[in-house]
Amino acid sequence: MDTHLLEELKQNIRGDVLTDNQTLITYSHDASLFELKPQVVVFPKDEEDLKSLVRFVNNNKKNNPSLSLTARSAGTDMSGGSINDSIIVCFEKYFNHIPKIHGNVATTKPGVYYRDFEKETLKHNLIFPSYPASREICAMGGIVNNNAGGEKSLHYGKTERYVKRIKVVLSDGNTYELKALSQIETEKKMQLKTFEGEIYKKMYKLITENTEDIVKAKPQVSKNSAGYNLWDIWDKDKKTFDLTKLYVGSQGTLGFLFEADIELVPIHKHREMMIIFLHDLSHLDQIIDEAMRLTPESFEAYDDSTLKLALRFFPEFTKLLGTKGIIQTAFSFLPEFLMIIFGGMPKLVLQVDFTGDDLETLTQKTEKLKEKLKPLHPKIRIAVEDQEKKYWAIRRESFNLLRQKIRNKHTVPFVDDFVVKPEYLSKVLPQVTNLINKHKGFIFTIAGHVGDGNFHIIPLVDIADPKVRENIPVIAKQVYDLVHEYHGSITGEHNDGLIRTPYLKQMYGEKIISLFEQTKNIFDPNNIFNPRKKVFGDLDFAMNHIRRNW
Ligand SMILES: Cc1cc2nc3c(=O)[nH]c(=O)nc-3n(C[C@H](O)[C@H](O)[C@H](O)COP(=O)(O)OP(=O)(O)OC[C@H]3O[C@@H](n4cnc5c(N)ncnc54)[C@H](O)[C@@H]3O)c2cc1C
Repeated sequence: MDTHLLEELKQNIRGDVLTDNQTLITYSHDASLFELKPQVVVFPKDEEDLKSLVRFVNNNKKNNPSLSLTARSAGTDMSGGSINDSIIVCFEKYFNHIPKIHGNVATTKPGVYYRDFEKETLKHNLIFPSYPASREICAMGGIVNNNAGGEKSLHYGKTERYVKRIKVVLSDGNTYELKALSQIETEKKMQLKTFEGEIYKKMYKLITENTEDIVKAKPQVSKNSAGYNLWDIWDKDKKTFDLTKLYVGSQGTLGFLFEADIELVPIHKHREMMIIFLHDLSHLDQIIDEAMRLTPESFEAYDDSTLKLALRFFPEFTKLLGTKGIIQTAFSFLPEFLMIIFGGMPKLVLQVDFTGDDLETLTQKTEKLKEKLKPLHPKIRIAVEDQEKKYWAIRRESFNLLRQKIRNKHTVPFVDDFVVKPEYLSKVLPQVTNLINKHKGFIFTIAGHVGDGNFHIIPLVDIADPKVRENIPVIAKQVYDLVHEYHGSITGEHNDGLIRTPYLKQMYGEKIISLFEQTKNIFDPNNIFNPRKKVFGDLDFAMNHIRRNW
């Protein structure tokens, strides 16, 4: 950015404006496989700073077309959502006040880390049930903007269900409140002769004139973060028009979020988990079917590579489990060691978690499931209350350990989040793994939300190898062709970012892509917010920005 422009920016911002090389390098990464160096990193102090940033970009965009604003909370996005080549706007420093809780609703700022948010909600025996596996390292702004989901989403749904009201700064540089509006309230908004009035009028028209196409294009899966959520804005039963449904999951492409009201749910008193060790996948469909009939709160899975990782990184797991030492952790894993020694490594480990306030009901459920699975002879363990911690640690932390621990190999999330109906999993999963196995240099772990049919496949590669870099888009295309064949979604929770936006056309077709582009244009006609994400994706640009160094 030229010095005059930078000076103008600094004069308009009360927070911090940084351009030193170390800061630019730090903020050129998120948890994706990309590297994209910004020109400036800004830590806005307050709402006024956010408005000033938008005004600054609007005023200078004509002479500096590449100027843009990319929001960032904790920067753990796996799709390249929180990096870009112009101004990065970080919320973690000043937008991190302790959330306020009234009744079952928490009002939060975007830079609040989930771990701190949960500390407050637990004081009220309440929880936000759509926290992601990155719960220890991510923040609320990213959770809302990615429409994050997690281990409890099977029962509770995703973030979109819990965001009740948001405050945003939109592309005209003003602040707005978005929430569900009645028909009369919506009509009043549409009559406004302002930018807000235009948004309501145009979005209402877009939704009502294209209802048939929109309904037809809805992916046949239980969770979806691909594209803009045009399906839930208009609720014909409640007769409400709710733009929070569109904003949640929009990856900062429609405006800045600076406050959100999040609904919470009560915590259940008891839990009981069944762990099923599968040596082959031939009965997977049947097991999924039997387990789902008993309405578990979560139903998760991980593969043999993930389990091996847990055993390999023992000291780290000791820390995560909060146990007294390595001996105690080793002791807690003893049954698994013995099982592996005598029975071999299981191909897939399934965790079926039942929660409730009546312990007896939970025990009945695990007993019933055990009985139903008996003819299939899987190895089963039951974990009650605290015993299940170690299984959760493996499930939640494996990707993070992979990111940090394997020397000369790098995690490259690019087919990391597809969803199909759970009944297709036993067909789709082996096809996907065979497909990746055909390419030399790609070893991977699999973990996921089996009850939702949502799987996270994270390859581990030598990113400096040109053949590996070349094969990334080849594998992505093949996997997404398969997902398309099974009417799935290319992302259930991790969102589109740089990596998946180019594949949205294949998933939705021209008509819906044009509706996404019109939506972007209604909110952000000058394309100032997070370009190349959600719309106008550019595969060549993405591939040219795969990291070279780690
Ligand atoms: C180990 C690991 C495990 C993960 N597991 C899961 C999982 O189980 N489920 C899941 O959904 N995701 C998962 N993720 C991805 C990611 O952590 C989550 O989606 C998380 O919610 C992102 O939060 P963040 O604060 O880090 O977001 P960021 O990376 O900061 O941002 C995410 C997106 O939101 C936008 N954004 C952020 N703040 C704002 C704001 N204030 N206004 C407007 N836009 C904003 C950004 O521009 C970006 O597009 C995982 C990531 C890692 C590294």
